[in-house]
Amino acid sequence: MQHFPIFMAVAGRRIVVSGGGDAALAKLRLLFKTEARLTVFAADPAPEIRAWADQGRLRLVTRAMEPGDATCAVLFYAADEDAAEDARSSAIARADGALVNVVDNLEDSEFITPAIVDRDPVTVAIGTEGAAPVLARAIKADLEERLPASLGPLARIGKGFRKLAEALPFGRARRDFWSDYYFNAGPRAIADGPDAVRPALDDLLARHLARESRPGHVAFVGSGPGDPDLLTLKARKALDTADVVIYDRLVTPEILELARREATMIDVGKEAFGPSTPQATIDALIVEHAQKGAQVVRLKSGDPTVFGRLDEEIEACEAAGVTWHIVPGITAASAAVASIGQSLTRRGRNSSVRFLTGHDMKGFADHDWAVLARPGEVAAIYMGKKAARFVQGRLIMHGADRATPVTVVANASRADQRVLDTTLDALPADLANAGLDGPALTFIGLAPRAAALAMAEIPHDARKEFA
Ligand code: SAH
Repeated sequence: MQHFPIFMAVAGRRIVVSGGGDAALAKLRLLFKTEARLTVFAADPAPEIRAWADQGRLRLVTRAMEPGDATCAVLFYAADEDAAEDARSSAIARADGALVNVVDNLEDSEFITPAIVDRDPVTVAIGTEGAAPVLARAIKADLEERLPASLGPLARIGKGFRKLAEALPFGRARRDFWSDYYFNAGPRAIADGPDAVRPALDDLLARHLARESRPGHVAFVGSGPGDPDLLTLKARKALDTADVVIYDRLVTPEILELARREATMIDVGKEAFGPSTPQATIDALIVEHAQKGAQVVRLKSGDPTVFGRLDEEIEACEAAGVTWHIVPGITAASAAVASIGQSLTRRGRNSSVRFLTGHDMKGFADHDWAVLARPGEVAAIYMGKKAARFVQGRLIMHGADRATPVTVVANASRADQRVLDTTLDALPADLANAGLDGPALTFIGLAPRAAALAMAEIPHDARKEFA
């Protein structure tokens, strides 16, 4: 950094300009934004400068600079539009002890004037050390567009409120309050006139104080199988009020859309057999945000209590003293069984149903295959696509009928839902041929009801009309 940016107090202090043409005019227009005492030396000043002098906005001396003319000046601008005169006048000013700027001459200047975005008292200064004036102008234009014109008055009113806002704890709470003021409540209030701003500030502070008294909390929320219509009302409400949403890979974009617009969205997507965010990192993230006072929604596909590693996350909360609750969701087995028009249990067929995982952390998961192989048993296998051959082998080894019905439902409840109707015997081959993409649930012992299968042929969007 060749030039160190500072904001200089110039109110009531002396700034001297040498020159009476366009360059001097441009500098003077800028200097009028300050409360400095301005003196101009110009043998032949432009009419505007004479007029300003007549209005008492500056002192005009209609001759060239002489030694002593810049005494007590803090800043001096050489705007003579003549290299020799600039050199002469700036040498005088320097000798008189002023900091010197020679217009359009970076090398001979002791300071440079940045591009300025003026929302007094908010001032943004942009400098490129003379390297890229075009860039400085582009940044300025960008900021001019982005910073509301009301920022100045808002900052002035806000300044008078600083003491009262100290009722909020230092740090995030206070920052959130001010950013809410400058970017939401403030601009809305000032649209009704400057008098509306102060009551809006009182109101905003009351709301933030109420929010602060609420400690951080974690809601473990089930997002259901993917169709946003299958979210519970409680899940919707939790998403509406979340400060932070930490979500899994299987949560669909349509559901993420429903989160509060200001919420921080964190993807901790886990891919079976693939790259994943380590569980310990997820646990730490949840706790970290809750401890900062955030309302955290830990969004898990289906029901959070089913194959969701929920307990590890709850234990992390408890260890950190963070409060939590669970919002149940519709698990994939419920959505998948609905799509094939069956029930999970049925009088006379099966009085129990098992939810199995195809694999666990150690590889393919082992189960009580002898029980599962009995006629009439129903099992819903999660994460079962890769384990299909293993499951088939184990069941047949324990005496299962090769003709046992098996149904695989991929993307249950979503627009791209697909149903594979097969048998234990043909499962691995049919599954390989079907090339199902996306999460899939496998039912052992259930075939789609014929009518439901016919329904599956009807395009998803049209189904509602038939239902
Ligand atoms: N907690 C989730 C299950 C997480 S394990 C629940 O209750 O549904 C992830 C497995 O769930 C996937 O491998 C797949 O077997 C199943 N799954 C999740 N969403 C599914 C969907 N829309 N259709 C079919 N299976 C799904």
